[in-house]
Amino acid sequence: MTFDDGPSPKLTPMLLDMLKQRGIKVTFFVVGQNAAEYPDILKRAAAEGHEIGNHSWNHPQLTHLSAAGVDSQIEQTNAAIRAAIGHNPVLIRPPYGATNAALDRRFNEQYGLKVILWEVDPLDWKYRNSARVEREILNQTKPGSIILSHDIHATTVAAMPDTLDALLAKGYKFVTVSELIAMEKSPPAKPATVAPKAGTPAPGSAAITPPPAPSATPASSDHNTPPPPASPTPSVPATEGSAAR
Ligand SMILES: [Zn+2]
Repeated sequence: MTFDDGPSPKLTPMLLDMLKQRGIKVTFFVVGQNAAEYPDILKRAAAEGHEIGNHSWNHPQLTHLSAAGVDSQIEQTNAAIRAAIGHNPVLIRPPYGATNAALDRRFNEQYGLKVILWEVDPLDWKYRNSARVEREILNQTKPGSIILSHDIHATTVAAMPDTLDALLAKGYKFVTVSELIAMEKSPPAKPATVAPKAGTPAPGSAAITPPPAPSATPASSDHNTPPPPASPTPSVPATEGSAAR
C-alpha cells in the first residue's frame, strides 16, 4: 500500500492511527515541500515502521524539466526527508508516473533511488468517493500488487479502515515497498499460496507478497512504457497538482 502527495497535517496522522491499530506498514511517497513543513509527521511515520520515498519537491512532471530542474526537485526533497528521518530515501515515484529510461538511470546512478510505479489505481484523486476507492482497490488487488492512493484526500483516508480490514480478511499481508522488493529478490523456496482464500490466511504467505512471476514489478521492465492509463491525461496535473499543495 502506498500513499502519495502528503504529508497532510490533518489526514496523515489519522491514517497513521489506523495503520498502527492494524499493525500495517505502508510506504509514503512524500512531496518535499510538505515534508519540509511537517517533519514531525514523517518522523512519526518512520518511527512506526513505514517507508518514506521521494515524490519530488512540488509535483511537476519531471520529464518536462531541465537536468538542473530535476536535480533540484530530487535534492531538495531528499534533504527534507533526511532532516526529518535522518537518512535519504531509496525509492522515488515520479509525479504522474512520468519518467523515461534516461531519468530512471539518473535517479539510480546519481541518487541511489529506485523508481516505483504501481499496479492498482483507484483514481481516488479523481473520484472523491470512499465507497468507490474501497471497491476499486478490492477489485484490482492481487498478491504482490503495489496500490496507489493519496493521503491528502479525506475520502481516501475515510475509505481506509474498511478497505484495509477487507484486505486483511482476505489474508493479505502489508509490507513496505523495499520489503516487497527484497521478497521478490529471494522468493521462498516453496511457492506458498499465491491467491489467498478469504478467511483462511496462510501464515507468511498472504498477499501483498510477491507472486512467482516477476512481471508484477512495475519498476523492472516498464520503465519505457507510458505511465499507467488515465494518469497522464491533461486534467491530471491541474487536479492532482493543485491538490498537492
Ligand atoms: Zn502525486
